[in-house]
Amino acid sequence: METREYDIVVVGSGAGGGTMAAALAPMVSQGVRILVLEQGPRLDPHEFTGSEGDMAGALYEDQGGFLTADGTMTLAMGRLFGGSTVVYTGTSLVAPDHVIREWYVPGLEHADIEQRCRKYMAQNHVHYLPRVLLNDNNKLFFTGCHRLGLKAEQFPLNVHGCKGSSLCNLGCPNSAKMGTHRVQLPDAERQGVEVITRTEVIRLEEKAAVVRVHAKPPGAKGREPEWAPGEYRINARQVVSCAGSVGTSALLLRSAVTAGVPGLGRGFTCHPAQILVAEHDRDITNDVGHPKSYYLDRARQEGFVLETCMYFPFVTAKNLTGFGPDHSAFMTAFPRLQMILVLACDKAVPENRITVDKSGKAVVHYTFTPAVRRSMVAATRMSARIFFAAGAKRVHAPPADPCLIDRQDAYRLDDLILEEHFIPGRLSISAAHLMGGCGMGPPGKGVTDSRGRVYGVPWLRVADASLFPDSLEINPYLTIMALADRVAEGIREDYRR
Ligand SMILES: Cc1cc2nc3c(=O)[nH]c(=O)nc-3n(C[C@H](O)[C@H](O)[C@H](O)COP(=O)(O)OP(=O)(O)OC[C@H]3O[C@@H](n4cnc5c(N)ncnc54)[C@H](O)[C@@H]3O)c2cc1C
Ligand code: SF4
Repeated sequence: METREYDIVVVGSGAGGGTMAAALAPMVSQGVRILVLEQGPRLDPHEFTGSEGDMAGALYEDQGGFLTADGTMTLAMGRLFGGSTVVYTGTSLVAPDHVIREWYVPGLEHADIEQRCRKYMAQNHVHYLPRVLLNDNNKLFFTGCHRLGLKAEQFPLNVHGCKGSSLCNLGCPNSAKMGTHRVQLPDAERQGVEVITRTEVIRLEEKAAVVRVHAKPPGAKGREPEWAPGEYRINARQVVSCAGSVGTSALLLRSAVTAGVPGLGRGFTCHPAQILVAEHDRDITNDVGHPKSYYLDRARQEGFVLETCMYFPFVTAKNLTGFGPDHSAFMTAFPRLQMILVLACDKAVPENRITVDKSGKAVVHYTFTPAVRRSMVAATRMSARIFFAAGAKRVHAPPADPCLIDRQDAYRLDDLILEEHFIPGRLSISAAHLMGGCGMGPPGKGVTDSRGRVYGVPWLRVADASLFPDSLEINPYLTIMALADRVAEGIREDYRR
């Protein structure tokens, strides 16, 4: 095994890792050697074809089909240069004040998070799309909410030159989405940070990462790895794990140097989500335009958030409960479909956690608590009301039996959409906001302090979504960048000292 020497090693290149790389990059000119290790490939812009079959394997862990231990939910994680920021939709919200307060992390103030979020909003070109660029799918959500007296809010988005191809979750074919692969990582590389792709960190040892560089498989997308395939030991004064909620938890759990840290893998939350679909009498613009313009925040009142969304045929078909003619009729009506994404604001509970199997692979245990079931059902009822208020003729509501509800039954949604029909395993539930596993907190309670320092392991920090001690109740990427920025500031201060 070859040994190499660096000062700082960053594991992962997503929202946390990309931010870390750029925030530390000015140190390179002072002679600090910084290395980013990313297990996924580096794709070139022309390789983003927008085709579902073609892209899933190149972008996502387990091709997007990573299942929780009991098989009731799929978890979406980007696995490439830029991590999940390559596949995210780009909605850019600042963490709510009450959430940060209720995390009870000593030293972590909402004002600090907000100020850092604003910095990254400016860097990532976050703005509101003008109304003329919003498609019918989004406008119908706004109309439905308005008619019901509900206040839908517009999402700020981090796009630059968006052509409205609606393919954000397949990686933008127009290079318009301002993920870390477009903004922070190129900036860091220009300043001399080295980023090595197809490089999996197998385990951490005392002040070192043991890694395997994988050869590019024949026919795969992406560039060759920057280093020759094989195993390396990389010595470093400081290691920062930014491998995501699942990746960082698994890495620390399979490393003997950290396996004894109490609380590792605990506190996993993920905003479980369901795609709801309704059919209108006429064709609407749905798969052109940016897919996500509005949301309705009911987190405090009812534990859920509704977002506009648009998924392409494979994902839509997978998410419709049922088989045969009903399923096929809905899919044939694709140009008339309106969609809403329901997200439950789950809370950290002891059952929901990350462990590793004998081979060191992550296993995510997730049980739908009664509160989450109630929220999902309440969210489905409200979505159905919004669809009908917007003029839909029938709604596909998975927690109803039968799950197709026609317009004439709109008056009895509370009798049709019931908790008893919310049966995990029968419904298609997925999650893309993976949080927790190495939560910040006071000594004895948290895995790290508010600056991402792992208790008892002074050379190791964490700077990604795994730091969240509980769910965020909104889309998380900006908060992750803000936390990574704080952790990077701590590293710079240490070096100055
Ligand atoms: C489809 C989708 C849509 C989303 N939309 C939004 C949105 O609109 N707004 C929003 O705020 N959030 C959104 N999110 C969530 C957001 O993208 C994530 O919360 C955020 O990117 C997580 O940041 P992270 O740094 O924790 O992990 P990631 O961004 O996932 O990065 C982790 C990186 O670490 C790498 N890695 C893991 N293990 C190892 C290892 N052992 N060795 C080397 N590398 C490793 C992974 O390959 C990955 O590249 C979305 C997520 C998805 C999947
Ligand atoms: S909608 Fe805009 S940001 Fe999304 S994939 Fe299309 S061009 Fe890119």
